[in-house]
Amino acid sequence: MTFSSNIARLQPSATLAVSSLAKRLRSEGRDIIDLSAGEPDFDTPSFISDQAIEGIRSGQTRYTPASGTPELRAAIAGHIGAVADRHIDPGDVVVTSGAKQAMFNAAFVLFGPGDDVLVATPYWTSYPQMVYLARAEPVFVRGAEENDFRLTPADLEAAATERTRGLILCSPGNPTGAVYSSEDLEAVARWAKGRGVWLIADEIYRRIYYGSDRPVAPSILELPEDALGPFVLVDGASKSFAMTGWRIGFLYSSPEVVKKVVALQGHTTSNAAAPSQAAALAAFGSRDRAEAAVAEMVAAFQRRRDLVTGLMSDLLPEFTYLSPGGAFYLFFRVDSVYREGCEGSTAFCSWLLEETGVALVPGVAFGDDRFVRLSFATDDATLKRGIERMATAVRGVLSAT
Ligand code: PMP
Ligand code: GLU
Repeated sequence: MTFSSNIARLQPSATLAVSSLAKRLRSEGRDIIDLSAGEPDFDTPSFISDQAIEGIRSGQTRYTPASGTPELRAAIAGHIGAVADRHIDPGDVVVTSGAKQAMFNAAFVLFGPGDDVLVATPYWTSYPQMVYLARAEPVFVRGAEENDFRLTPADLEAAATERTRGLILCSPGNPTGAVYSSEDLEAVARWAKGRGVWLIADEIYRRIYYGSDRPVAPSILELPEDALGPFVLVDGASKSFAMTGWRIGFLYSSPEVVKKVVALQGHTTSNAAAPSQAAALAAFGSRDRAEAAVAEMVAAFQRRRDLVTGLMSDLLPEFTYLSPGGAFYLFFRVDSVYREGCEGSTAFCSWLLEETGVALVPGVAFGDDRFVRLSFATDDATLKRGIERMATAVRGVLSAT
């Protein structure tokens, strides 16, 4: 069968594929420990869900403006403005069906044939695919491993050409957990501005931050005004408020970009689901309640991060890992155990799943085949069992050679 050249390079999402496989194996009766899923294991806080039920009962079941309800756009503007201590015009916010759509909209509206887009690598698996769908070319830029792969202006300068139109950056990072400090972020933003390159900043994990110096990870919105050139900020409700299934994201950019994004969305998906917008209004609009719920979840993620890094250091010292400053992933190197017949992160993850029932995501899906990704958004007992099983299996391989 022949398909359109629009999807010539399209690959299925590896992150979604692994969690679907884990769910299927479990439904077939296998004892599976799924550490692949990139979603909080908590239920959505009930004051948020209740608002959706209330919204449905009061008739919020119809189309809203494609850009989102004015109330939700205002609440989001207030939310991001408060953290950054900056006035945000609600008209410059577009509500999307998940942060995924916000990122896709930005890529599709801004980039096209002949354009190169720098993608900070290791990257979230969907970024290059979105750039391909826009018929532009992703250019993978990797910072130093000792610097947790964070990019510096020198890394960017070495990768840029006259075709470079954009830079996609994610902090706190998926899959690395690396967090850009305000200084790092400012240096990158100034570089992008100087080059006239669009900075697309994915801050979906911003609230899931473990530093003690500040409540949330640094944002591009906190930078001095003169540091920031053309940008699109991508964020959403999925991770911070445990709302992955509700499909609420947003972007914030200039009025010109917003106009094009709303036009695109008006012909593709229209508005994000109305009851989900009602729920998101509670999340973004009732600051004190939302903050309390988020703080509780972040404290649990932080405890699990400490548990997981402690177990890895004790039980699997041959696997070096990046120490996560935010998000809920541990990205660790397994290439020291690659052997003939089991080489590469996909083979490693297949072997591990077959041998132990532990599901991880191969690093190749994030642009680095030496690594694998473990999600610690699950309970302590499961994490402990998963790492212990992995350690036993790896010990077996090492002692056999
Ligand atoms: N950006 C990153 C870095 C992510 O990990 C995810 C995970 N889903 C998304 C965007 C998309 O979020 P959403 O579920 O809101 O579409
Ligand atoms: N972003 C999450 C992950 O990286 C969820 C799956 C997806 O949307 O890719 O696992």
